[in-house]
Amino acid sequence: MKAVGKFILLDASEFSSWLDMQIITRKISLVQQHHTYLPAYKTFKGNNHFELCKSMEQAHIERGFSEIAQTFTTFPDGKIMVCRNINQIPAGIKGANANGICIENVGNFDKGKDKMSVAQKDTIISITKTLLKKFNLQPSDQTVVYHHWYDLILGKRIKVEGTGNTKSCPGTNFFGGNKVEDFKKNFLPLL
Ligand SMILES: [Zn+2]
Repeated sequence: MKAVGKFILLDASEFSSWLDMQIITRKISLVQQHHTYLPAYKTFKGNNHFELCKSMEQAHIERGFSEIAQTFTTFPDGKIMVCRNINQIPAGIKGANANGICIENVGNFDKGKDKMSVAQKDTIISITKTLLKKFNLQPSDQTVVYHHWYDLILGKRIKVEGTGNTKSCPGTNFFGGNKVEDFKKNFLPLL
């Protein structure tokens, strides 16, 4: 564990005990999955976790947020950064923030872009499982959600894949795809 200001960098193995120490003051009922797109794997140098989070925060402030948007960031080496206080509502998905936790996974996981490392894959699975357990949530497409499933303008879940104003986040190749059916086939069984 290493802290610089509010940012706390954890090994994946430290996350569960860190979470157990937190006093939770809001209702949490879903975990959002995102990819950062930029920074992507080529921007990660193995030791610049704090610099990347500070530059993301700067970019988010320039977009009008009060601070960095996400609750947690995962990295290609499997480390986790605590970015926004868990009791603060994140700015991750319009329509899914009030009771949400926002996880930004560093990388561009669209098809043909970054190939997710095993370490990051393991961390994404373990952080998601740990959060679901902590908040007594059953793994499903209601408790773990991809940004792609929401209409960016309406702030509502799309009813039919391929409709609405959506973005590809967390990537068209995130655990084999960004659709609900991909999630059910590839990610849900790991939770
Ligand atoms: Zn996103």
